[in-house]
Amino acid sequence: MYKVDHYIEGKLVAASDNRNAPIYNPATGEIQGEVGLASTADVDAAVNAASKAFESWSETGLMKRVAILFKFRELLEANREELCRHIVAEHGKVWDDAMGELTRGFEIVENACGIPEMLKGEYSQQVGSGIDCYNTRQALGVVCSITPFNFPAMVPLWTIPLAIACGNTFILKPSERDPSCANILARLFTEAGLPDGVFNVVHGDKVAVDHLLQHKGIEAISFVGSTAVAEYIYHTGTAHNKRVQALGGAKNHAIIMPDADLDQAVDAMIGAAFGSAGERCMALSVAVAVGDDIADRLVQKITEQASRIKVGCGFDHNNEMGPLITKEHNARVKRLITEGEKQGAKVVLDGRKFNAPSGFEDGYFCGPTILDHVTKDMSVYSEEIFGPVLVVVRAQSYNEAVKLVQDHEYGNGTCIFTRDGDIARDFTRKIKIGMVGVNVPLPVPLAFHSFGGWKRSIFGDHHMYGPEGVRFWTKLKTVTMRWPTSIMAGANLSFPSSD
Ligand code: NAD
Repeated sequence: MYKVDHYIEGKLVAASDNRNAPIYNPATGEIQGEVGLASTADVDAAVNAASKAFESWSETGLMKRVAILFKFRELLEANREELCRHIVAEHGKVWDDAMGELTRGFEIVENACGIPEMLKGEYSQQVGSGIDCYNTRQALGVVCSITPFNFPAMVPLWTIPLAIACGNTFILKPSERDPSCANILARLFTEAGLPDGVFNVVHGDKVAVDHLLQHKGIEAISFVGSTAVAEYIYHTGTAHNKRVQALGGAKNHAIIMPDADLDQAVDAMIGAAFGSAGERCMALSVAVAVGDDIADRLVQKITEQASRIKVGCGFDHNNEMGPLITKEHNARVKRLITEGEKQGAKVVLDGRKFNAPSGFEDGYFCGPTILDHVTKDMSVYSEEIFGPVLVVVRAQSYNEAVKLVQDHEYGNGTCIFTRDGDIARDFTRKIKIGMVGVNVPLPVPLAFHSFGGWKRSIFGDHHMYGPEGVRFWTKLKTVTMRWPTSIMAGANLSFPSSD
Protein backbone atom coordinates (compact mmCIF):
# COMPACT_ATOMS: atom_id res chain seq x y z
CA MET A 1 0.00 0.00 0.00
CA TYR A 2 1.32 3.44 -0.84
CA LYS A 3 0.00 6.97 -0.40
CA VAL A 4 -0.08 9.70 -3.07
CA ASP A 5 0.02 13.26 -1.68
CA HIS A 6 -0.20 16.67 -3.35
CA TYR A 7 2.99 18.31 -4.66
CA ILE A 8 2.96 22.01 -3.83
CA GLU A 9 5.85 24.48 -3.93
CA GLY A 10 8.46 21.81 -4.54
CA LYS A 11 7.42 19.33 -1.86
CA LEU A 12 4.90 16.62 -1.00
CA VAL A 13 1.98 17.87 1.09
CA ALA A 14 -0.69 15.63 2.67
CA ALA A 15 -4.36 16.41 1.97
CA SER A 16 -5.59 18.64 4.78
CA ASP A 17 -8.93 17.07 5.70
CA ASN A 18 -8.11 13.36 5.46
CA ARG A 19 -10.36 12.52 2.51
CA ASN A 20 -8.86 9.70 0.44
CA ALA A 21 -9.71 7.53 -2.56
CA PRO A 22 -8.47 3.97 -3.20
CA ILE A 23 -6.14 3.24 -6.12
CA TYR A 24 -7.01 -0.14 -7.65
CA ASN A 25 -4.87 -2.53 -9.65
CA PRO A 26 -7.24 -3.14 -12.61
CA ALA A 27 -5.54 -6.45 -13.46
CA THR A 28 -6.29 -8.00 -10.05
CA GLY A 29 -9.07 -5.85 -8.59
CA GLU A 30 -6.96 -5.27 -5.47
CA ILE A 31 -6.50 -1.94 -3.73
CA GLN A 32 -2.82 -1.07 -4.03
CA GLY A 33 -2.70 2.45 -2.64
CA GLU A 34 -4.65 5.57 -1.82
CA VAL A 35 -4.65 9.17 -2.99
CA GLY A 36 -5.45 12.20 -0.86
CA LEU A 37 -8.38 14.28 -2.14
CA ALA A 38 -7.91 18.04 -1.98
CA SER A 39 -10.00 20.36 0.14
CA THR A 40 -10.59 23.95 -1.02
CA ALA A 41 -7.78 24.98 1.38
CA ASP A 42 -5.36 22.63 -0.45
CA VAL A 43 -6.34 24.22 -3.78
CA ASP A 44 -5.82 27.69 -2.27
CA ALA A 45 -2.33 26.67 -1.11
CA ALA A 46 -1.42 25.55 -4.64
CA VAL A 47 -2.83 28.73 -6.23
CA ASN A 48 -0.90 30.88 -3.72
CA ALA A 49 2.34 29.04 -4.47
CA ALA A 50 1.80 29.37 -8.21
CA SER A 51 0.88 33.10 -7.95
CA LYS A 52 4.03 33.81 -5.96
CA ALA A 53 6.18 31.89 -8.46
CA PHE A 54 4.61 33.68 -11.46
CA GLU A 55 6.29 37.02 -10.68
CA SER A 56 9.80 35.72 -11.27
CA TRP A 57 9.04 32.83 -13.66
CA SER A 58 7.28 35.07 -16.19
CA GLU A 59 10.36 37.35 -16.12
CA THR A 60 12.83 34.46 -16.50
CA GLY A 61 14.72 34.59 -19.80
CA LEU A 62 13.56 32.28 -22.58
CA MET A 63 16.87 30.44 -22.85
CA LYS A 64 16.87 29.71 -19.11
CA ARG A 65 13.34 28.26 -19.40
CA VAL A 66 14.48 26.15 -22.35
CA ALA A 67 17.55 24.89 -20.47
CA ILE A 68 15.26 23.58 -17.71
CA LEU A 69 13.00 21.88 -20.27
CA PHE A 70 16.02 20.22 -21.92
CA LYS A 71 17.12 18.89 -18.52
CA PHE A 72 13.55 17.75 -17.78
CA ARG A 73 13.48 15.86 -21.10
CA GLU A 74 16.72 14.06 -20.17
CA LEU A 75 15.32 13.13 -16.77
CA LEU A 76 12.11 11.81 -18.33
CA GLU A 77 14.18 9.42 -20.44
CA ALA A 78 16.28 8.36 -17.44
CA ASN A 79 13.08 7.66 -15.44
CA ARG A 80 11.04 6.15 -18.29
CA GLU A 81 10.82 2.70 -16.67
CA GLU A 82 9.52 4.11 -13.37
CA LEU A 83 6.83 6.09 -15.20
CA CYS A 84 5.92 3.04 -17.30
CA ARG A 85 5.64 0.81 -14.21
CA HIS A 86 3.14 3.17 -12.62
CA ILE A 87 1.06 3.47 -15.80
CA VAL A 88 0.81 -0.31 -16.13
CA ALA A 89 0.09 -0.83 -12.42
CA GLU A 90 -2.60 1.87 -12.08
CA HIS A 91 -4.10 2.12 -15.58
CA GLY A 92 -3.65 -1.51 -16.64
CA LYS A 93 -2.49 -0.97 -20.24
CA VAL A 94 0.28 -3.25 -21.50
CA TRP A 95 3.94 -2.29 -21.17
CA ASP A 96 4.64 -1.43 -24.85
CA ASP A 97 1.51 0.67 -25.05
CA ALA A 98 2.54 2.58 -21.91
CA MET A 99 6.00 3.12 -23.43
CA GLY A 100 4.32 4.47 -26.59
CA GLU A 101 2.26 6.91 -24.52
CA LEU A 102 5.47 8.16 -22.90
CA THR A 103 7.19 8.66 -26.24
CA ARG A 104 4.30 10.77 -27.54
CA GLY A 105 4.27 12.80 -24.31
CA PHE A 106 8.04 13.38 -24.39
CA GLU A 107 7.70 14.73 -27.94
CA ILE A 108 5.66 17.65 -26.60
CA VAL A 109 8.52 18.51 -24.23
CA GLU A 110 10.95 18.41 -27.17
CA ASN A 111 8.67 20.70 -29.14
CA ALA A 112 8.35 23.11 -26.18
CA CYS A 113 12.16 23.47 -26.21
CA GLY A 114 11.61 25.49 -29.40
CA ILE A 115 9.50 28.07 -27.59
CA PRO A 116 11.74 31.07 -28.44
CA GLU A 117 10.90 30.50 -32.09
CA MET A 118 7.18 30.09 -31.37
CA LEU A 119 6.92 33.27 -29.27
CA LYS A 120 8.56 35.48 -31.87
CA GLY A 121 6.27 38.39 -32.62
CA GLU A 122 5.63 40.26 -35.82
CA TYR A 123 7.02 43.70 -36.57
CA SER A 124 5.87 46.35 -39.02
CA GLN A 125 7.99 49.40 -39.63
CA GLN A 126 6.60 52.78 -40.64
CA VAL A 127 2.91 51.87 -40.29
CA GLY A 128 2.42 55.64 -40.19
CA SER A 129 4.84 58.48 -40.44
CA GLY A 130 7.59 57.70 -37.87
CA ILE A 131 5.46 54.95 -36.31
CA ASP A 132 6.43 51.27 -35.84
CA CYS A 133 4.21 48.48 -34.59
CA TYR A 134 4.90 45.02 -33.17
CA ASN A 135 3.05 42.29 -31.34
CA THR A 136 4.15 39.80 -28.70
CA ARG A 137 2.48 36.95 -26.87
CA GLN A 138 2.67 37.10 -23.08
CA ALA A 139 1.92 34.57 -20.33
CA LEU A 140 -1.56 34.49 -18.77
CA GLY A 141 -0.64 33.88 -15.10
CA VAL A 142 -1.64 30.84 -13.01
CA VAL A 143 -3.22 28.19 -15.24
CA CYS A 144 -4.47 24.67 -14.64
CA SER A 145 -5.10 21.39 -16.36
CA ILE A 146 -7.61 18.70 -15.37
CA THR A 147 -6.84 15.35 -16.95
CA PRO A 148 -8.47 11.92 -17.53
CA PHE A 149 -7.37 8.44 -16.48
CA ASN A 150 -6.65 7.01 -19.91
CA PHE A 151 -3.26 8.69 -20.53
CA PRO A 152 -1.86 9.45 -17.06
CA ALA A 153 1.44 10.78 -18.48
CA MET A 154 0.76 11.84 -22.06
CA VAL A 155 -2.31 14.03 -21.58
CA PRO A 156 -0.73 16.04 -18.72
CA LEU A 157 2.30 16.47 -21.01
CA TRP A 158 0.00 17.82 -23.76
CA THR A 159 -0.31 20.97 -21.66
CA ILE A 160 2.41 21.40 -18.99
CA PRO A 161 5.58 21.94 -21.12
CA LEU A 162 4.13 24.58 -23.44
CA ALA A 163 2.22 26.39 -20.70
CA ILE A 164 5.27 26.82 -18.50
CA ALA A 165 7.57 27.48 -21.47
CA CYS A 166 5.28 30.44 -22.27
CA GLY A 167 5.91 31.79 -18.74
CA ASN A 168 2.78 30.61 -16.91
CA THR A 169 2.77 28.80 -13.58
CA PHE A 170 0.76 25.63 -13.37
CA ILE A 171 -1.55 23.44 -11.32
CA LEU A 172 -2.29 19.89 -12.51
CA LYS A 173 -5.37 18.05 -11.24
CA PRO A 174 -4.81 14.52 -12.58
CA SER A 175 -7.28 11.64 -12.54
CA GLU A 176 -7.67 10.18 -9.07
CA ARG A 177 -7.68 6.67 -10.59
CA ASP A 178 -4.00 6.69 -11.69
CA PRO A 179 -2.39 9.66 -9.92
CA SER A 180 1.25 8.55 -9.44
CA CYS A 181 2.74 9.71 -12.76
CA ALA A 182 1.80 13.33 -11.96
CA ASN A 183 3.99 13.31 -8.86
CA ILE A 184 6.91 11.75 -10.75
CA LEU A 185 6.66 14.56 -13.32
CA ALA A 186 6.66 17.09 -10.45
CA ARG A 187 9.72 15.52 -8.83
CA LEU A 188 11.60 15.51 -12.16
CA PHE A 189 10.76 19.18 -12.75
CA THR A 190 12.27 20.02 -9.35
CA GLU A 191 15.36 17.95 -10.18
CA ALA A 192 15.63 19.78 -13.51
CA GLY A 193 15.85 23.10 -11.68
CA LEU A 194 12.30 24.43 -12.14
CA PRO A 195 11.74 26.96 -9.33
CA ASP A 196 9.36 25.85 -6.58
CA GLY A 197 5.73 26.78 -7.21
CA VAL A 198 5.97 26.90 -11.02
CA PHE A 199 4.49 23.39 -11.29
CA ASN A 200 2.14 22.00 -8.62
CA VAL A 201 -0.05 18.92 -8.40
CA VAL A 202 -3.35 18.86 -6.54
CA HIS A 203 -5.07 15.47 -6.39
CA GLY A 204 -8.77 15.28 -5.95
CA ASP A 205 -12.32 15.00 -7.17
CA LYS A 206 -15.19 17.41 -7.90
CA VAL A 207 -14.42 19.46 -4.75
CA ALA A 208 -10.99 20.41 -6.13
CA VAL A 209 -12.25 20.90 -9.70
CA ASP A 210 -15.16 23.14 -8.68
CA HIS A 211 -12.87 25.34 -6.59
CA LEU A 212 -10.38 25.66 -9.46
CA LEU A 213 -13.22 26.61 -11.84
CA GLN A 214 -14.28 29.51 -9.64
CA HIS A 215 -10.93 30.59 -8.22
CA LYS A 216 -10.09 34.26 -8.85
CA GLY A 217 -6.38 33.37 -9.01
CA ILE A 218 -6.76 31.04 -12.03
CA GLU A 219 -6.61 32.53 -15.55
CA ALA A 220 -7.09 29.51 -17.80
CA ILE A 221 -8.30 25.92 -17.61
CA SER A 222 -7.49 23.07 -19.93
CA PHE A 223 -9.65 19.97 -19.55
CA VAL A 224 -9.64 16.53 -21.14
CA GLY A 225 -12.26 13.95 -20.18
CA SER A 226 -15.82 12.85 -20.88
CA THR A 227 -18.21 15.12 -22.81
CA ALA A 228 -20.68 15.67 -19.95
CA VAL A 229 -17.90 16.92 -17.65
CA ALA A 230 -16.18 18.86 -20.48
CA GLU A 231 -19.38 20.78 -21.16
CA TYR A 232 -19.82 21.54 -17.44
CA ILE A 233 -16.18 22.67 -17.13
CA TYR A 234 -16.49 24.95 -20.17
CA HIS A 235 -19.69 26.66 -19.05
CA THR A 236 -18.66 27.01 -15.39
CA GLY A 237 -15.12 28.18 -16.16
CA THR A 238 -16.16 30.73 -18.77
CA ALA A 239 -18.96 31.99 -16.47
CA HIS A 240 -16.11 32.82 -14.08
CA ASN A 241 -14.29 34.68 -16.86
CA LYS A 242 -11.61 32.09 -17.49
CA ARG A 243 -10.20 31.00 -20.81
CA VAL A 244 -11.26 27.34 -21.22
CA GLN A 245 -10.47 24.54 -23.66
CA ALA A 246 -12.41 21.37 -22.79
CA LEU A 247 -11.89 18.25 -24.88
CA GLY A 248 -14.54 15.54 -24.54
CA GLY A 249 -15.52 12.08 -25.73
CA ALA A 250 -15.57 10.49 -29.16
CA LYS A 251 -17.06 7.89 -31.45
CA ASN A 252 -14.57 7.52 -34.28
CA HIS A 253 -15.68 6.03 -37.60
CA ALA A 254 -13.57 4.39 -40.33
CA ILE A 255 -15.11 4.14 -43.79
CA ILE A 256 -13.97 1.12 -45.78
CA MET A 257 -14.61 1.59 -49.49
CA PRO A 258 -15.00 -1.43 -51.82
CA ASP A 259 -11.63 -0.65 -53.46
CA ALA A 260 -9.69 -0.52 -50.16
CA ASP A 261 -6.60 -2.64 -49.56
CA LEU A 262 -8.40 -4.82 -47.04
CA ASP A 263 -5.31 -6.42 -45.49
CA GLN A 264 -3.78 -2.99 -44.83
CA ALA A 265 -7.10 -1.68 -43.48
CA VAL A 266 -7.60 -4.62 -41.14
CA ASP A 267 -4.04 -4.43 -39.75
CA ALA A 268 -4.51 -0.73 -39.07
CA MET A 269 -7.98 -1.15 -37.59
CA ILE A 270 -6.97 -3.92 -35.17
CA GLY A 271 -4.54 -1.61 -33.32
CA ALA A 272 -6.90 1.36 -33.46
CA ALA A 273 -9.93 -0.56 -32.19
CA PHE A 274 -8.40 -2.77 -29.52
CA GLY A 275 -5.16 -1.03 -28.46
CA SER A 276 -5.34 0.08 -24.81
CA ALA A 277 -8.59 -1.97 -24.59
CA GLY A 278 -10.32 0.78 -26.58
CA GLU A 279 -9.78 3.31 -23.79
CA ARG A 280 -8.47 5.98 -26.14
CA CYS A 281 -10.32 9.06 -27.33
CA MET A 282 -8.90 8.23 -30.78
CA ALA A 283 -9.95 4.58 -30.60
CA LEU A 284 -11.70 3.31 -33.71
CA SER A 285 -15.16 2.28 -32.58
CA VAL A 286 -17.25 2.16 -35.78
CA ALA A 287 -16.32 0.49 -39.07
CA VAL A 288 -18.61 1.60 -41.90
CA ALA A 289 -18.29 -0.87 -44.74
CA VAL A 290 -19.60 0.36 -48.09
CA GLY A 291 -21.36 -2.60 -49.72
CA ASP A 292 -22.16 -6.07 -48.35
CA ASP A 293 -19.30 -7.75 -50.21
CA ILE A 294 -16.55 -5.73 -48.49
CA ALA A 295 -18.51 -5.89 -45.20
CA ASP A 296 -18.56 -9.71 -45.22
CA ARG A 297 -14.84 -9.93 -46.03
CA LEU A 298 -13.96 -7.25 -43.46
CA VAL A 299 -15.90 -8.93 -40.66
CA GLN A 300 -14.33 -12.29 -41.41
CA LYS A 301 -10.74 -11.00 -41.52
CA ILE A 302 -10.96 -8.67 -38.55
CA THR A 303 -12.71 -11.30 -36.41
CA GLU A 304 -9.96 -13.81 -37.18
CA GLN A 305 -7.24 -11.34 -36.16
CA ALA A 306 -9.06 -9.92 -33.12
CA SER A 307 -9.73 -13.39 -31.72
CA ARG A 308 -5.95 -13.95 -31.58
CA ILE A 309 -5.25 -10.84 -29.43
CA LYS A 310 -3.59 -11.89 -26.17
CA VAL A 311 -5.39 -10.37 -23.20
CA GLY A 312 -4.02 -10.23 -19.66
CA CYS A 313 -1.89 -8.37 -17.16
CA GLY A 314 0.05 -5.46 -18.69
CA PHE A 315 3.32 -6.52 -17.05
CA ASP A 316 3.40 -9.77 -19.05
CA HIS A 317 5.20 -8.80 -22.27
CA ASN A 318 3.32 -11.49 -24.24
CA ASN A 319 0.03 -9.70 -23.69
CA GLU A 320 -1.31 -7.16 -26.18
CA MET A 321 -4.36 -5.85 -24.33
CA GLY A 322 -4.96 -5.22 -20.62
CA PRO A 323 -8.03 -4.80 -18.39
CA LEU A 324 -10.49 -1.91 -18.24
CA ILE A 325 -10.04 0.80 -15.63
CA THR A 326 -12.72 -0.11 -13.03
CA LYS A 327 -15.19 -2.82 -12.15
CA GLU A 328 -18.09 -0.42 -12.88
CA HIS A 329 -16.70 0.52 -16.29
CA ASN A 330 -16.23 -3.17 -17.19
CA ALA A 331 -19.86 -3.84 -16.23
CA ARG A 332 -21.04 -0.85 -18.33
CA VAL A 333 -19.12 -2.04 -21.43
CA LYS A 334 -20.64 -5.53 -21.10
CA ARG A 335 -24.12 -4.09 -20.53
CA LEU A 336 -23.81 -2.08 -23.76
CA ILE A 337 -22.79 -5.20 -25.70
CA THR A 338 -25.85 -7.02 -24.31
CA GLU A 339 -28.08 -4.07 -25.20
CA GLY A 340 -26.71 -4.08 -28.77
CA GLU A 341 -27.41 -7.82 -29.05
CA LYS A 342 -30.98 -7.37 -27.78
CA GLN A 343 -31.54 -4.52 -30.24
CA GLY A 344 -30.62 -6.80 -33.17
CA ALA A 345 -26.83 -6.59 -33.65
CA LYS A 346 -24.99 -9.85 -34.35
CA VAL A 347 -22.19 -10.55 -31.84
CA VAL A 348 -19.49 -12.16 -33.99
CA LEU A 349 -16.77 -12.00 -31.34
CA ASP A 350 -17.85 -11.93 -27.70
CA GLY A 351 -15.47 -10.43 -25.12
CA ARG A 352 -17.97 -10.94 -22.32
CA LYS A 353 -16.95 -14.60 -22.27
CA PHE A 354 -13.26 -13.87 -21.67
CA ASN A 355 -11.77 -16.03 -18.91
CA ALA A 356 -8.94 -14.34 -17.05
CA PRO A 357 -5.89 -16.46 -16.27
CA SER A 358 -5.28 -17.76 -12.76
CA GLY A 359 -4.41 -14.96 -10.33
CA PHE A 360 -6.32 -12.37 -12.38
CA GLU A 361 -9.89 -13.68 -12.00
CA ASP A 362 -10.96 -10.48 -10.22
CA GLY A 363 -9.36 -8.18 -12.83
CA TYR A 364 -11.61 -5.95 -14.95
CA PHE A 365 -11.16 -7.84 -18.22
CA CYS A 366 -13.31 -7.82 -21.31
CA GLY A 367 -12.05 -9.54 -24.45
CA PRO A 368 -12.11 -8.02 -27.96
CA THR A 369 -15.69 -7.77 -29.18
CA ILE A 370 -17.14 -7.26 -32.66
CA LEU A 371 -20.79 -6.54 -33.42
CA ASP A 372 -22.03 -6.72 -37.01
CA HIS A 373 -25.27 -5.36 -38.54
CA VAL A 374 -25.32 -2.43 -36.11
CA THR A 375 -27.72 0.39 -36.95
CA LYS A 376 -27.66 3.99 -35.85
CA ASP A 377 -30.63 3.71 -33.49
CA MET A 378 -28.72 1.25 -31.22
CA SER A 379 -27.06 2.51 -28.01
CA VAL A 380 -23.93 0.56 -28.96
CA TYR A 381 -23.69 2.94 -31.95
CA SER A 382 -24.74 6.25 -30.40
CA GLU A 383 -22.81 6.05 -27.10
CA GLU A 384 -19.06 6.21 -26.54
CA ILE A 385 -18.29 2.72 -25.15
CA PHE A 386 -14.60 3.29 -24.29
CA GLY A 387 -13.90 -0.44 -24.36
CA PRO A 388 -12.58 -3.11 -26.76
CA VAL A 389 -15.73 -3.10 -28.88
CA LEU A 390 -15.84 -2.52 -32.65
CA VAL A 391 -19.25 -2.09 -34.23
CA VAL A 392 -19.74 -2.67 -37.95
CA VAL A 393 -22.36 -0.67 -39.82
CA ARG A 394 -23.20 -1.58 -43.39
CA ALA A 395 -23.80 1.32 -45.82
CA GLN A 396 -24.88 0.97 -49.44
CA SER A 397 -23.01 4.02 -50.77
CA TYR A 398 -20.18 6.44 -50.01
CA ASN A 399 -22.72 9.25 -49.44
CA GLU A 400 -24.65 7.15 -46.92
CA ALA A 401 -21.40 6.39 -45.06
CA VAL A 402 -20.39 10.07 -44.99
CA LYS A 403 -23.83 11.06 -43.69
CA LEU A 404 -23.42 8.68 -40.75
CA VAL A 405 -20.13 10.33 -39.76
CA GLN A 406 -21.58 13.83 -40.24
CA ASP A 407 -24.71 13.09 -38.20
CA HIS A 408 -22.94 11.68 -35.12
CA GLU A 409 -22.72 14.07 -32.19
CA TYR A 410 -18.97 13.53 -31.76
CA GLY A 411 -16.29 14.82 -34.11
CA ASN A 412 -12.87 13.78 -32.81
CA GLY A 413 -11.32 11.57 -35.49
CA THR A 414 -12.25 9.64 -38.62
CA CYS A 415 -10.54 7.89 -41.50
CA ILE A 416 -11.21 6.38 -44.88
CA PHE A 417 -9.63 3.38 -46.55
CA THR A 418 -9.68 3.68 -50.35
CA ARG A 419 -7.46 3.70 -53.44
CA ASP A 420 -9.55 6.45 -55.06
CA GLY A 421 -7.94 9.92 -54.86
CA ASP A 422 -11.18 11.72 -55.79
CA ILE A 423 -13.10 10.06 -52.98
CA ALA A 424 -10.29 10.71 -50.47
CA ARG A 425 -10.09 14.39 -51.42
CA ASP A 426 -13.84 14.84 -51.24
CA PHE A 427 -13.87 13.14 -47.81
CA THR A 428 -11.05 15.21 -46.29
CA ARG A 429 -12.62 18.47 -47.51
CA LYS A 430 -16.23 17.76 -46.60
CA ILE A 431 -16.12 15.87 -43.35
CA LYS A 432 -17.00 17.75 -40.13
CA ILE A 433 -14.36 16.12 -37.94
CA GLY A 434 -11.22 17.55 -36.32
CA MET A 435 -8.64 14.89 -37.23
CA VAL A 436 -8.88 12.93 -40.47
CA GLY A 437 -6.86 9.99 -41.82
CA VAL A 438 -6.59 8.58 -45.33
CA ASN A 439 -5.43 4.95 -45.23
CA VAL A 440 -4.09 5.84 -41.77
CA PRO A 441 -6.16 4.87 -38.74
CA LEU A 442 -7.12 7.90 -36.66
CA PRO A 443 -3.91 9.88 -36.67
CA VAL A 444 -2.96 11.65 -33.44
CA PRO A 445 -1.15 14.76 -34.74
CA LEU A 446 2.51 15.14 -33.83
CA ALA A 447 3.70 17.79 -31.38
CA PHE A 448 4.23 20.51 -33.99
CA HIS A 449 0.63 20.28 -35.24
CA SER A 450 -2.31 20.50 -32.84
CA PHE A 451 -4.78 17.98 -31.43
CA GLY A 452 -8.53 18.49 -31.21
CA GLY A 453 -11.93 17.42 -32.40
CA TRP A 454 -15.05 19.24 -33.58
CA LYS A 455 -18.72 19.11 -32.55
CA ARG A 456 -19.33 17.72 -29.03
CA SER A 457 -15.75 16.44 -28.76
CA ILE A 458 -14.58 19.94 -27.82
CA PHE A 459 -15.88 23.03 -26.05
CA GLY A 460 -13.82 26.17 -26.61
CA ASP A 461 -11.88 27.55 -29.54
CA HIS A 462 -8.33 26.27 -29.18
CA HIS A 463 -7.02 22.82 -29.91
CA MET A 464 -4.33 21.25 -27.74
CA TYR A 465 -0.53 21.75 -28.04
CA GLY A 466 1.39 22.84 -31.19
CA PRO A 467 0.63 26.32 -32.57
CA GLU A 468 -2.88 26.27 -31.07
CA GLY A 469 -1.39 25.44 -27.65
CA VAL A 470 0.86 28.50 -27.76
CA ARG A 471 -2.16 30.66 -28.63
CA PHE A 472 -4.17 29.16 -25.77
CA TRP A 473 -1.45 29.69 -23.13
CA THR A 474 -0.65 33.30 -24.09
CA LYS A 475 -2.41 36.56 -24.80
CA LEU A 476 -1.59 38.92 -27.62
CA LYS A 477 -0.24 42.39 -27.05
CA THR A 478 0.23 44.91 -29.87
CA VAL A 479 2.55 47.86 -29.31
CA THR A 480 2.49 50.94 -31.54
CA MET A 481 5.24 53.48 -30.94
CA ARG A 482 6.55 56.78 -32.14
CA TRP A 483 9.49 58.64 -30.75
CA PRO A 484 9.37 62.47 -30.67
CA THR A 485 11.09 64.08 -33.62
CA SER A 486 11.66 67.70 -34.59
CA ILE A 487 8.86 67.44 -37.19
CA MET A 488 5.92 66.54 -34.86
CA ALA A 489 2.74 67.79 -36.49
CA GLY A 490 0.78 68.89 -33.41
CA ALA A 491 -2.57 67.61 -32.12
CA ASN A 492 -5.23 66.25 -34.53
CA LEU A 493 -8.67 65.14 -33.29
CA SER A 494 -9.78 63.20 -36.39
CA PHE A 495 -9.66 59.34 -36.33
CA PRO A 496 -6.02 58.17 -36.74
CA SER A 497 -5.08 56.98 -40.22
CA SER A 498 -1.84 55.60 -41.57
CA ASP A 499 -0.75 58.74 -43.48
P1 NAD B 1 -13.92 12.03 -16.62
O1 NAD B 1 -14.66 13.09 -17.32
O2 NAD B 1 -14.66 11.11 -15.73
O3 NAD B 1 -12.74 12.67 -15.72
C1 NAD B 1 -11.84 13.61 -16.23
C2 NAD B 1 -11.37 14.51 -15.10
O4 NAD B 1 -12.49 15.24 -14.58
C3 NAD B 1 -10.75 13.77 -13.92
O5 NAD B 1 -9.64 14.49 -13.45
C4 NAD B 1 -11.88 13.73 -12.89
O6 NAD B 1 -11.40 13.75 -11.56
C5 NAD B 1 -12.66 15.00 -13.18
N1 NAD B 1 -14.10 14.86 -12.95
C6 NAD B 1 -14.85 13.74 -13.12
N2 NAD B 1 -16.14 13.99 -12.87
C7 NAD B 1 -16.22 15.30 -12.53
C8 NAD B 1 -17.31 16.16 -12.16
N3 NAD B 1 -18.56 15.72 -12.09
N4 NAD B 1 -17.03 17.45 -11.88
C9 NAD B 1 -15.77 17.91 -11.96
N5 NAD B 1 -14.71 17.15 -12.29
C10 NAD B 1 -14.92 15.86 -12.60
O7 NAD B 1 -13.13 11.21 -17.76
P2 NAD B 1 -12.30 9.88 -17.59
O8 NAD B 1 -13.23 8.74 -17.35
O9 NAD B 1 -11.17 10.08 -16.66
O10 NAD B 1 -11.66 9.76 -19.06
C11 NAD B 1 -12.31 9.15 -20.14
C12 NAD B 1 -12.97 10.16 -21.04
O11 NAD B 1 -12.01 11.12 -21.48
C13 NAD B 1 -13.54 9.55 -22.31
O12 NAD B 1 -14.80 10.11 -22.56
C14 NAD B 1 -12.54 9.96 -23.40
O13 NAD B 1 -13.07 10.05 -24.71
C15 NAD B 1 -12.12 11.30 -22.89
N6 NAD B 1 -10.84 11.70 -23.46
C16 NAD B 1 -10.86 12.65 -24.45
C17 NAD B 1 -9.67 13.03 -25.05
C18 NAD B 1 -9.68 14.06 -26.13
O14 NAD B 1 -8.61 14.52 -26.48
N7 NAD B 1 -10.82 14.47 -26.67
C19 NAD B 1 -8.46 12.46 -24.64
C20 NAD B 1 -8.49 11.50 -23.62
C21 NAD B 1 -9.70 11.12 -23.04
